[in-house]
Amino acid sequence: MNPSGSEGVAVAPRSVASIPLMRPVLGDAEIEAVTAVLRSGWVAQGPRVSEFERAVAGRVGAADAVAVSSCTTGLHLALVLLGVGPGDEVIVPSLSFIATTNAAVYVGATPVYADIDLETGNVTAETVAAKLTHRTRVVIVVHQAGVPADLEAICAVCNEAGVAILEDAACAIGSTLGGRLIGGHGNLAAFSFHPRKILTTGEGGMLTFHDTSLVARARRLREHGMSVSAADRHVERGLVFEEYLETGYNFRLTDLQAAVGLVQLERLAGVVARRRTLAAGYHRRLHDIPALTCVADPPGGTTNFQSFWIRLHHEFPITRNELMVRLEDAGVASRRGIMAAHLHPAGARWQTGPLPVTEVLSSTSVILPLFHEMSDDDLDRVAEVIAGAAR
Ligand SMILES: *Cc1c(COP(=O)(O)O)cnc(C)c1O
Repeated sequence: MNPSGSEGVAVAPRSVASIPLMRPVLGDAEIEAVTAVLRSGWVAQGPRVSEFERAVAGRVGAADAVAVSSCTTGLHLALVLLGVGPGDEVIVPSLSFIATTNAAVYVGATPVYADIDLETGNVTAETVAAKLTHRTRVVIVVHQAGVPADLEAICAVCNEAGVAILEDAACAIGSTLGGRLIGGHGNLAAFSFHPRKILTTGEGGMLTFHDTSLVARARRLREHGMSVSAADRHVERGLVFEEYLETGYNFRLTDLQAAVGLVQLERLAGVVARRRTLAAGYHRRLHDIPALTCVADPPGGTTNFQSFWIRLHHEFPITRNELMVRLEDAGVASRRGIMAAHLHPAGARWQTGPLPVTEVLSSTSVILPLFHEMSDDDLDRVAEVIAGAAR
C-alpha cells in the first residue's frame, strides 16, 4: 500500500516490505458470490445461510448447524440452550480471548478459571477436575489457536460429574482429534468466522449440534424468539403470522456473509494444508535455537495453526517484549501470546485461585506471522530475527 495516498509520489519505503501477522484468503469467487446475493434482492438471513449451515455440519461431521452473527453470540446462545443461569458455574480457561469468559457472564453464571497445559495452551482433565463443584453446569473447552484439547479425557471427567461440554472452536475449524474434525466429537461447538481465524465471512459464527433436540429452539432464539423465520414467512403462500414464544436475540448471519462462507469452505482443506506446511517450515528453522518451544500438534491431534506461537524459556537472552521490538524493527508483525483473562479488569473479579501455567504461557509467548501467501523468504526473515536474538 502506498502510505502517501497519492499516486506516483515516491515515499521513503522500508528497506524491505513488512510481513503481516495474518491475511485472509479471499478471491474472485467470494466477490462473485456476494454479487449474486446482491442481485437476488434477499440479503439478510435466507437460503444461503441454510445452505451454509448444511455445508458446515456436513464438513465437520455434526448432525446439524445453526449460523450466528459471531462465535461470541454462539457461545452465549449455547449456554442459554444448556439452561445455564445465575448460581451456576461455568469452567473456562483464563488463557483465551475474553469472549469465552463473557459468555458465562452474559447468562448470569459465574466463570471459574481452570489452568492449562503449558505445551498445548488448553485445559486438561486434571485442571478441569480441580475446579469442579456441585454448582458446575458446563465446561467451555477452548481449542486454543486451533490446537485441539484432550476432549476424551475431559469428557470422562465431565460425564462422571454430569457436566456438559461446550467446545469453543472459534479458531479450530479444520483441526482434527482422533482422526475426526473438531465439531465431530459429540458436543455442542461454536466456530468463529472473524478474519483473524481460518475461514472468514467478515464477522460470523456457527453452532454445530449432535443433540438435534436443541436445534429448533436455537434457530428461534437467534431470531428474536419468532415461531416462523422471516425467510420462511416470505416463501409461504397466504397469510402467516409469527408469534414470539420467548425472549430471543438478533444473532443472525446474513446471506451476504453465508455466500462468502460457502466459497471459503471450499478453500478450507487447502488453506489448512498450506498453514501446516508453513508451520513445518518454522519448525525446521527454529528447531536448533535453544531456550524456545514452538507450538505443535498435540498427541492424537492435528492443529490448523490458526496462530503460530513460540514460548521463550527463562534462559532466552532477551524478554518476550524485547523480542517483539526486534521483530517490529525488522518489519515483522507479531502479537503477544494469548491473553490471560484474569489479568484484565473484565476478568479479574472471577479469579479464585492461582493460575501459574496460564501466566507463564501468556507472558512468555509471542505469535508469529503465518498467512497463505507467506514465502520461504518471509519465513527466513522471521527466523533470522529470532536466531539473532538468541545469540
Ligand atoms: C476469536 C475468538 C472468539 C470470538 O470470536 P468472534 O467470532 O469474534 O466473536 C471466542 N473464543 C476464542 C477462543 C477466540 O479466539
